[in-house]
Amino acid sequence: SLQTKQKHIHKDAQYTNVQQGEDYLNSWNHSDVEVKNLKNSVETNKLPCIEKFYLTILSELGEDAEREGLLRTPLRAAKAMQFLTKGYKETIRDVLNEAIFDENHEEMVIVKDIDFFSLCEHHLVPFFGKAHVAYLSNRKVVGLSKIARIVEIYSRRLQVQEHLTKQIAQAISEALEPAGVAVVMEANHMCMVMRGVQKINACTVTSVMLGKFQDDPKTRSEFIALTGKN
Ligand SMILES: [Zn+2]
Repeated sequence: SLQTKQKHIHKDAQYTNVQQGEDYLNSWNHSDVEVKNLKNSVETNKLPCIEKFYLTILSELGEDAEREGLLRTPLRAAKAMQFLTKGYKETIRDVLNEAIFDENHEEMVIVKDIDFFSLCEHHLVPFFGKAHVAYLSNRKVVGLSKIARIVEIYSRRLQVQEHLTKQIAQAISEALEPAGVAVVMEANHMCMVMRGVQKINACTVTSVMLGKFQDDPKTRSEFIALTGKN
């Protein structure tokens, strides 16, 4: 019907706005005031709405949503889901503000074994593991803890491991303009472990190499030697 069609169009329009907002917040070249204003408009409190839908999900699964153990579950689940996807409300700009320093020498910076936790966008179940990040500084450097924060921002969203790996590499590349970036991620996907194929020990490895890590065999082999990751 026409009404349904309009609803769909409305939904798509909303999605596009949020997506554009996201892209805008994640890009690097905007004033603080611009970013703050847009962020406030994107960050409205959705908790009661998400809670309501979790209540529906429980009932539709055949549960008695009124039983004692489940009374506060929709609210808890809504809060948990907001926490697990809090990366949507954070930007690289927030993290790196005033944390970038000038250095004169070019050197390889490596942060190994960064724990990350994400949700697969196909099943909304967790995948998690370790990220290894390296960059070849070109004047700009950043505190090591900030690298872990960048991994966190992109992990705490609905993700596909390949996109996640690429987004982290691109964010570092844009922010630090280094001579090269390497990101390797190893993860276990609960959607593979707990359902369907049930491959308990299957570990998925993804990597993105940019700049000298891609072009210069010496840089790449130095990275592989230092991390043991290819
Ligand atoms: Zn999945």
